[in-house]
Amino acid sequence: MNQLNWGTPEALRELLCEVVSWRSMTLTEGERNFPSKVEAKLRGLGYFQENPTHLLLHDADQGRRFLTALYKHPNAKETIVLISHFDTVNTEEYGDLEDFAYQPEELTNLLHERLDGLPEDVVQDLKSGEYLFGRGTMDMKMGLVMHMGLIEKATVEQWPINLLLLTVPDEEVNSAGMCAAVPKLLELKEKHDLTYKLFLNGEPVFSQEPGDENYYVYSGSIGKIMPSALFYGKETHVGEPLSGITAPYIASFLTQKMEWNLSLQETVRGETTPLPVTLQQKDLKLEYSAQTPYRAAALYNVFLMERNAEEIMDIFEKVAVNAASTCNRAYMEVCKEQYVDPVGEVSVLRYEALLTHAINKFGTDFVEAIKAAVHANSEWDDREKSLRIADTLMIQCQELAPAIVLLFAPPYYPAVNSSNDELITQCVEYVKEQGLAKFNLPVQQVHYFNGISDLSYVNYQDDGEGWTVFKSNTPVWGSGYIIPFDAMKELQAPVLNVGPLGKDAHKRTERLHMKSAFEEVPILVEGMIKMMINN
Ligand SMILES: [Zn+2]
Repeated sequence: MNQLNWGTPEALRELLCEVVSWRSMTLTEGERNFPSKVEAKLRGLGYFQENPTHLLLHDADQGRRFLTALYKHPNAKETIVLISHFDTVNTEEYGDLEDFAYQPEELTNLLHERLDGLPEDVVQDLKSGEYLFGRGTMDMKMGLVMHMGLIEKATVEQWPINLLLLTVPDEEVNSAGMCAAVPKLLELKEKHDLTYKLFLNGEPVFSQEPGDENYYVYSGSIGKIMPSALFYGKETHVGEPLSGITAPYIASFLTQKMEWNLSLQETVRGETTPLPVTLQQKDLKLEYSAQTPYRAAALYNVFLMERNAEEIMDIFEKVAVNAASTCNRAYMEVCKEQYVDPVGEVSVLRYEALLTHAINKFGTDFVEAIKAAVHANSEWDDREKSLRIADTLMIQCQELAPAIVLLFAPPYYPAVNSSNDELITQCVEYVKEQGLAKFNLPVQQVHYFNGISDLSYVNYQDDGEGWTVFKSNTPVWGSGYIIPFDAMKELQAPVLNVGPLGKDAHKRTERLHMKSAFEEVPILVEGMIKMMINN
C-alpha cells in the first residue's frame, strides 16, 4: 500500500490543500494554468510514465483546456468516466482574508480569531475541528482529488476496469469545458475501444434546505434554462406619455406573471424544483434623457426535471401571450379615458420569427453583419449579446412593435436522470448499505442534484427534436455558444454523483467535512467500483 502517493487521509488532505492553492476562478489566468498542474502531478505516476499518451490536455475555448487521464486495463472495455470541474467562483466576499481563501489550513486557523463575524452554525463547525475552510475545498476540488486518488490506486493495483478521469473548466459560468469535452469523449471511446458504463461526478453534497446535514447520493442532475424577453415599445417624449408605450410598462406585466409561476414548477419522484425567478430586468437605454425608454429586457431562471427547452418555450409563450393581453387591456383602458388613439397592440413573437422576418426583409448577409457587430463587443457576455442581437434586429423591424420577443439566453443545462437504471440502483444500494455498515452513516438518495452540474451534458434523452427550439431561439447559438446535442445523445450511460459533504458553497464560509472527504467517501466510491467489477 505504501506505493501510493495519495493512499491515506493525510495524503489526500495535503493534496487537496495544494490543489486549492492553484487559484482557478472562472475566466482568469489561474483557470487557464490549472490543468497543466494536474497533468504534472499525474505525470508522476508510473502508469502515465509508461503510457504518456493516456494523459492529455485538450483545448476548450479562450485559451482554456481540459484534462483527460485514462487508466486502461488491457482486458477491459467497461469504463467509468470520473467527472469534475476545476474552476471556482470568486473570492471578494472573504474581505481582508481574501489572500487566505486558497490556503485552507491557514484560513481555518485564522477563522478561530474571527468568531464574532461568523454565523452560529459556522462557529460550531469551526470549533468541532471537523471542517476545512477555503474556496474550492467543497466545490469541487475535493471531487477531483478523490478521483486522482482512485486512478492512482487503480493503476497500482491494476483494477480490471477502465477509469477515465475528466476535469474541466467553466462549470460555474457556461460549462464551455464540458461542452468541449463531450465530442472528445466520443473520440477517446473510438480510439481505445471503450464502453462507457457510468458517468460518475464528484460534486459535493448540497443541503436540501438550510441546516440540513444529511448525506446524499444523486442519481440525476436538475436542469436550468433562461427564457428571456426583449420588450420593444414605442418611444415618445415624457411630456406626451400617451404618444408611445414604454418598455418597462410592458415588461412589468410579464415579470409579474413569470416570477413564482407555478406552471413552471415541476414535481418528480417527490422532489420539486425551486420556483422561477427574475434574474435581471433592465432598460436597454444607455443614458438618461427625456425620451422614454422603449427597449427593455428580462432574464428569468427556470429549473427543469423532465421538461426540455421546447416545452419551456411553449409554456413561456402562453404566459407571455397572457401578459400581453393583460397589458393591452390596461393600456386601452387608459387610452379610452384620455381620448387618445392607442399606438398599437403589444404582440408576442419568438426570436426565430423575428429572425425570419428580418432575413426576408434584408437578406441573410445583412442579418449576419448585425450579429457580427454585436459579437465584436468583447466586453458583453453571452447574455448581453443575446439581448443586443434581438434588440438590433427589432430596431430594423419596427413594424413589428410594440412587441415582446421571446428568446433563450445561455447557459442551458438539460435535466438528466438515471434513477430507473439497474446499475444505478445497485450503486445506490451499495453506498447506502456500506455507509451504514462501515461508518454508521445514513445515506439518502436524491433524484436530481440541486447544485447544477456537468452531468447535464451526457446521457441526453430527447425523443423528438426538442433541442431545435432551443437552437433557433438562442441568438448567440453557433457564435460563442454551442451545446453538442448530437454528441450528447451518443454518450448513453447512466449518471451518478457521489461526492464529499460540505457546506456553504459559493460563500466565504465554504467548508469541507474532513472525515467525509478524506475517509468515508473515497472508501465508498472505491468499494462501489469494485462491486461493479465483480458484477
Ligand atoms: Zn460545482
